Amino acid sequence: MTKEIETYCDVLIIGAGPAGLMAARTLSEFVRQDPSLKVRIVDKRSTKIFTGQADGLQPRTLECLKNLGMPQIYEAANDMTTINLYNPDDSGMIRRTDRFPDTVPGVSRYNQCVLHQGLIERHFLDSIHEVSEGRVAVERPLLPESIEVDESKADDPDAYPITVTLRYLAEDEADPVQFGHKVSNGLFRTTLTTAEEDDAEYRLPEGKEAGLREKVHAKYVIGCDGGRSWVRRSLGLNMVGEQTDYIWGVVDIVPETDFPDVRARCAIHSAESGSVMIIPREDKLVRFYIQMQERAEQGGRVDRSQFTPEKIVDSARKIMAPYYLNYSRMDWFTAYHIGQRVADKYSVAERAFIAGDACHTHSPKAGQGMNASMMDTWNLGWKLGMVLTRRAQRSLLKTYESERQPFAQALIDFDHKFSRLFSGKPAKDVLDGSGVSMDAFKEAFMKNALFTSGTAVDYDESAIVAKTGKNGSAVASKPALARNITVGTRLKSEQVCRHSEGLAMHLGDLLYMNGAYRVLLFAGNAAAPAQMDRIERFAAYLDSPESFVSRFTPADCKRDALFEVLTIHSNSRDEIDMQDFPAPALYPPFDYDKIFADCETYHRGHGHAYEAYGIDAERGAVVVVRPDGYVALVCDIEDTADLEAYFSAFMAVPAKPLGAQAEKDWTFTAK
Ligand code: FAD
Repeated sequence: MTKEIETYCDVLIIGAGPAGLMAARTLSEFVRQDPSLKVRIVDKRSTKIFTGQADGLQPRTLECLKNLGMPQIYEAANDMTTINLYNPDDSGMIRRTDRFPDTVPGVSRYNQCVLHQGLIERHFLDSIHEVSEGRVAVERPLLPESIEVDESKADDPDAYPITVTLRYLAEDEADPVQFGHKVSNGLFRTTLTTAEEDDAEYRLPEGKEAGLREKVHAKYVIGCDGGRSWVRRSLGLNMVGEQTDYIWGVVDIVPETDFPDVRARCAIHSAESGSVMIIPREDKLVRFYIQMQERAEQGGRVDRSQFTPEKIVDSARKIMAPYYLNYSRMDWFTAYHIGQRVADKYSVAERAFIAGDACHTHSPKAGQGMNASMMDTWNLGWKLGMVLTRRAQRSLLKTYESERQPFAQALIDFDHKFSRLFSGKPAKDVLDGSGVSMDAFKEAFMKNALFTSGTAVDYDESAIVAKTGKNGSAVASKPALARNITVGTRLKSEQVCRHSEGLAMHLGDLLYMNGAYRVLLFAGNAAAPAQMDRIERFAAYLDSPESFVSRFTPADCKRDALFEVLTIHSNSRDEIDMQDFPAPALYPPFDYDKIFADCETYHRGHGHAYEAYGIDAERGAVVVVRPDGYVALVCDIEDTADLEAYFSAFMAVPAKPLGAQAEKDWTFTAK
């Protein structure tokens, strides 16, 4: 007989791929701070991914992983430094026609790199366990069977407006067999089948009863269940866009070949046989994305049994001829076709959300999907954490869709252009209008390099992005005070020097994702008495009962738990001491990690951070950075009213605010 239990939780995450794991990881930080929060993550499969699938990590994603305390991912990955373009010459023979850097030099501390999704997921699972102190863990295999959202209760902070029924699966139900081959492959979850066929794999056979069902009452649900998202379909949210007919095969092999650039990223266009993208990977592996001759009629269903590993490699051989291609090991293969679509809405009543492939699908060749998926929940996680802990008003959650949907649309537009340029036949000469011009292909590649690095994201103005003081923002920034910082983009990291001992550090490394806003006080020439007067007035404001710190920080939190003030002066460490900065606002008692200098260091030279940010080294500026690292506001040291107005627009006044107290032990311990 089927047993049914009933439970309650704050957040239920459905799907434990990259989007779901990032959601769980960002929320784990809030669970650490408030162990009464109940965050659950469930997946219908009995195991995580072990081989294959996504592997490309953008510089921006790597910056975020560093801010989550997961630098091991970069350390284990294979850096991609170069891209080579191969095109047919007049005789039809493929030749290298160009070579340029894979990541735009100087755009980030990190290069684009690759590491397979299985290892990335492993690191996430460990980090979630550690940060949540064992309170958050993926529960498998659990299949959601129904979801209902009571929108009338959406604005009640105590309500549990969502009801989800989960079914506990038997092991054999949750482990779809590898599709027909000994080699691990992705054909069992490929886009060549329909969502209904996928659903059917997990349906109970006629007459069989479920062992256990659980009715979960949740405050929030995040559907991170991939491109065929059951959550999206059940909530009645639609994907808008189109499906291409090109079919691509993918193999991960250790190659044996005379092709000269097999250990570098290559885009190869042959005269007649299609295209190949080569991605060098960790552990001597190389991934080949290979254009197949088969087409999917109007993007429809395709018989996946025709795609064998040998057939896929043979297609690569034809494209790469006269170079030979064999392999000593094959780890994984798959075949797929591309849908370029974005969901029309990202939530129902800002209670049930979708994220990742559940709201955007596109070609994997530009290495965007896993990154875009993780960045969705990187964006949503802190906002949900702030609302759940009653630090912010629920209106903050509206900015998830308003920030992430335009980004997804831009991604689809890029992918539309890029994948057609990559799949098309090369033009024979300038008069061949039906072919793809290789100059246009190179231009698209180079022009979009910034976009594909993930660092070009520029969120529109809103309550949390203060650009002109219009379009929903209560304040206008003063861009002239930080000429090279764009409000709405992520703060690019520059080297600074920790005042206490002279260690060269990256400013980006100080932005550990713990849900706190960073107020960066570029204090300018603090050794000049007139400038120190300005700094002291700013500090007096922060310590006053009227400041946003005193008003919005709850009494049971440390004083820097919601707003951490970091001071970066432009003096040498000999001109001024840490203790010269006003305590406790800027130099909290016995906290030696709050004051930094933009000065010469013994081992790493001078960071020239003021110059890089375009900030006046005498007068300085204030730069407000969101918990996810995006610049929210640039203002002057006197503009305390602007800071007040910015935070008042979305922060919640706690029942018992901290007030103007300055007790001795008031700093959190960042990881
Ligand atoms: P998924 O990774 O699809 O995860 C969804 C999870 O939800 C799965 O664990 C699944 O078991 C679970 N699930 C599904 N339905 C349910 C349900 N009803 N109930 C419970 N659980 C459910 N992206 C890149 O950034 N870089 C790359 O280099 C790259 N290469 C790729 C190569 C290939 C061959 C493919 C196929 C994709 C590639 N991608 C790449 C895309 C990338 O894999 C996806 O964009 C990414 O995995 C999306 O993450 P997600 O968490 O949204 O969804």
